[in-house]
Amino acid sequence: MELFVDIFFIIMIFVAFGFYIKHKMSSSFNELHEIQRGYCPKCKESISEEHFKLDKRNGSCGGVSTMIATCGLCGYENAFSVGSSSTCGSGSCKT
Ligand SMILES: [Zn+2]
Repeated sequence: MELFVDIFFIIMIFVAFGFYIKHKMSSSFNELHEIQRGYCPKCKESISEEHFKLDKRNGSCGGVSTMIATCGLCGYENAFSVGSSSTCGSGSCKT
């Protein structure tokens, strides 16, 4: 009986961990979506250049660039991986 309870708890931990990862990934996607719409995901203030900083660092050609969003009002800070396919093929990339 005790072994059964142990297995049950282990399964529950795995299920909870799976949900946590899924939620973390989807919430990160939603935050990027809100930023693209022009709102800070945390304080819901509209993004203006005075308080909201978007720092985009391009990776290598064909790779993924990192975008760092920082809000000066609420202290929100998050890094997003953004595909840089649009910058490739313009002739500026040297392989
Ligand atoms: Zn904010």
